[in-house]
This record gives sequence, C-alpha cells and structure tokens, in this order.
Amino acid sequence: MNGQYKIIRIRQGKEKQLVRHHPWMFSGAVEHEKSPEEIGVGIVQIHDSQDRFIAYGWHDPKSHILVRLLSWDAQVVPDETWWIDMIRSAVRRRLPLFSDARQTNAFRLIHGEADFLPGIVADLYGSTIVCIISARVGWDHRQVVVTTLRKLLNPSRIIVSTDSSFCGIEQMKETTEWHEGESVTVPATVESIRFRELGLLYGMDPVEGQKSGFFCDQRDNRARVGTYASGRTCLDAFSYSGAFSLNLLASGARSVTAVDSSAAALRQLEANLEANGKNRRIQSDAASRLTVRQADVFSFLREMETDRYDLIILDPPKLAQTKGQVEGALRAYKDLNRLAIGKIRRGGIVATFSCSSGVSREQFKTMIAWAAKDAAREVQILETLGQGPDHPVRLSFPESEYLKGFILAVL
Ligand code: SAH
Repeated sequence: MNGQYKIIRIRQGKEKQLVRHHPWMFSGAVEHEKSPEEIGVGIVQIHDSQDRFIAYGWHDPKSHILVRLLSWDAQVVPDETWWIDMIRSAVRRRLPLFSDARQTNAFRLIHGEADFLPGIVADLYGSTIVCIISARVGWDHRQVVVTTLRKLLNPSRIIVSTDSSFCGIEQMKETTEWHEGESVTVPATVESIRFRELGLLYGMDPVEGQKSGFFCDQRDNRARVGTYASGRTCLDAFSYSGAFSLNLLASGARSVTAVDSSAAALRQLEANLEANGKNRRIQSDAASRLTVRQADVFSFLREMETDRYDLIILDPPKLAQTKGQVEGALRAYKDLNRLAIGKIRRGGIVATFSCSSGVSREQFKTMIAWAAKDAAREVQILETLGQGPDHPVRLSFPESEYLKGFILAVL
C-alpha cells in the first residue's frame, strides 16, 4: 500500500455503504483527527475504525461531499493513469452500442459516478462533445478528460461547462470553456450543432440549450412510444425540442400537439421539423400534422377538453432536485398524471416519466395508482421503461438510476 497519502478514519458503524463501494463520504462519517483544511485537496486513503484500508478517495473540504471514493483496490492509486483508464473504459463500453452512426451519433460517453468518474457527464453530438461538471473533483480533472476524449474520438470541439444547479453547493464558478485544437476559447458566434438519433435529424444550441442540449436518455423510450402512435391523436407534454413529437409523426400519428413553456425549445422543434422534412426523414405531410403551443403544461391539462387525445406523453423536468423536495414533487407528478389519465380517450395510452433520482420507481408507481384512483379509471402497465444503456445504473450507486417510465393503457 502507498504510504504517501493522508489517512482518514471512519467512525465505527459509518463504513457500511463505503465498504459496499458507495462513492460518497460525508464529513459526519469522519473521525476528525485533523481539520479538513489541514488535509487539503487531493488523494487520501480511507480506513475503517480498526485501521483497515477501505478505498482511495479525493478529499476536498469545499465540496459538499467531503471525499469521493474512487478505487477500492489498495494496489490501484487513482492518479492520472487511473483517470485515463476510467475514461477510456467508459468510452469503449459505449462504442459497440452505437455501431450505426447513420442512425444515431448522439449518446452519453461518461455517466458520472456510474462510470466511476464523479460529477462528470460527457455527451457526444456528432463531432462535438459536451461535458457537464457537477463536482469540484471533475473540474480539477477536466484537462485529462479533454485530452483523453480527444485522443479517443478526435472531435472537432469539446465544450466543458459547470452545472449551474451544483455551482452553489460545490463552490464552483458558472463557466464554459471551448476546447478546440490546443486552444481554450469562447467563440464569438455559435452555430447550431447537428446530430442524428434513430435516423432523425436534430440541431441544438450549445449555449442556450438545456443541460447538455438534448435528452439522449430517452432514445429507446421514443422508439417504444412510437410503436403506439399510428393513427392516434397525440399530446407531447414538455416537448423540449420535439424528439418524442418527431418520432410520433414518423410513426404515423394522426396529429401531434407539442407543448412546452420555453420559446427557444419550440423554435428548435420547428427547425428540427423542417430539417427532417427537407431531408425526407419524415413524410411530407408531417408539418401539417403538428401543432406547437407555448404554455404551462399544468394549465394546459386543466383547460384541455376530455377525450381530445388518445396518446399523451408526460416528460416533465426534474421536479425534485433534493430529497427534501420529494413530497412536493410527488404531488405535482400526481396532478399531471391524474389530469392525463382522467381526460384521455378510453383505450388511450399514457407514457409517463420521472427523471428525479430522489423519487423511487416504487414511489412513482404508487403515485400513478393514486392518480388513477382519483381519476376513477382502471390503468394497466404495458411497459416499464428506464434510461438507455449509455446511461448505466451502477448497483453500488443506487442514485444513478434516475429515469423511470411506464407506458399505461387507460381502460
Ligand atoms: N421530452 C423532452 C425533454 C423534456 S425536458 C425530450 O424528449 O427531449 C423538460 C421540458 O419541460 C423543458 O423543455 C422545459 O422547458 C419544459 N418545462 C418545464 N416546466 C414546464 C411547464 N410548467 N410547462 C411546460 N413546459 C415546462
């Protein structure tokens, strides 16, 4: 074992999750022999109260998670070579999943802790990589991420941003760096980034877009929901740039209404529709089957007439940001689902999602049961959906399972 790293001892009884390879250690678990500031920022060894090695981690007193555990093997120090190895393995696990780039060239390369890389997400969009950093340790290691991804994939640019929703608790600046060649810049004019998913064409604005610009975690679910679309009158609630809508149109929906509160998202939707029409990716009458509405979905559903739609997609943003917000979020999810289930035409299909990792699949299902009861409808689950394989769930990090969905038949 390497003697050069400072040792942090865990208080008795606080080691259980860490021994099972959970990667987060909070300061309450530490037997404080030295102050966190004395230990500083860098690699440490975590020992149990009997002084047995548990793991190597990254210690940072300014992070809201004091130590991020990285390597549970005493022989493997998480140095630069380890980072390169982890990044390379994450990318190599993805490539066989997406061998047909003519169909799909947008997917997640690195899924944070689920790929053993804390607070680092990297998404590929054609020849652009977008990295979103939500932990200080990720920011400190961004250069090795950029260099390694460039060597592996030779993208034309890598855009690295801090995640604004974590900047407060991680004491990071809200900032974006463009890595092009060897230089780090912010270009004066930004053109739309183009990519493909399931054979359809998309663009996104890397500056104005939400999160990394597109939600590729829903790829497989778009295909699944598409199989119910033929001949149906559809509502795509929380449409963003229209990826569900386009799949519904391509699968022969009679009509689609896309609703979102963001004008920028809906402008992108229109641009996506046009690009697909021009390039004959969707039928020539698709534009005439689509209606776009800028509105609050909650009000829209309340005002919507009963029996108007027979396929409804509910894909709201993360309604619970923290554990403390779960109860309020469940009430909001229930409102949405009660309205959709209550107003859909009999025999209709509701595809409902939650991307809040604080809400468990069981809680989500129970909420739907209550929503159905309040709407006085019988509901069957036809399909159980989750995040795509490029967003893997690491069993020793249950928080990595965040996207839950069901395709429901409303009887
Ligand atoms: N279904 C989309 C992703 C949805 S992301 C896809 O497949 O790409 C969530 C979307 O909800 C965002 O576009 C955001 O602008 C929108 N949104 C958030 N709150 C909203 C509200 N109250 N009413 C309507 N849209 C809302």
